[in-house]
Amino acid sequence: MGGADLTGGCLCGTVRYRLTARPFDLGWCHCRMCQLNSGSPAMAFGSVEAIDYDIERGADAIRRYRSSEKGERWFCGTCGTPLLFREVEGSTYDFSVATLDHPEAAPPAIHIHYTSHIPWAAAADDGLPRHPQGRGT
Ligand SMILES: [Zn+2]
Ligand SMILES: [Zn+2]
Repeated sequence: MGGADLTGGCLCGTVRYRLTARPFDLGWCHCRMCQLNSGSPAMAFGSVEAIDYDIERGADAIRRYRSSEKGERWFCGTCGTPLLFREVEGSTYDFSVATLDHPEAAPPAIHIHYTSHIPWAAAADDGLPRHPQGRGT
């Protein structure tokens, strides 16, 4: 994945961003908040330091929702695309990998919060580790 490929944006094109570092901790999250936030069985996330998530366009269209004590979720106020999760006390952004222009270049390496996975949406045997809660479980 070259630096030139690390661009992305929302469905309507209002928000455009560029990652200035390679993402880390790529994985699927099956928690209920991600399911409700996306309307899908799971969300594919990757992390970058906040300073490496450069919003090139549409920053004023981004809305924030405080989804828990721990953090907030950013989405496009026009089309609703979930863009990222940010821990209030943290320094990283967990962004939605599918919003990359080339998400195929950032494959997940882990499943977390697998306890709440939706059985009919179980991934094929992808060989990736499945953690009942967070990475440490
Ligand atoms: Zn949008
Ligand atoms: Zn989640």
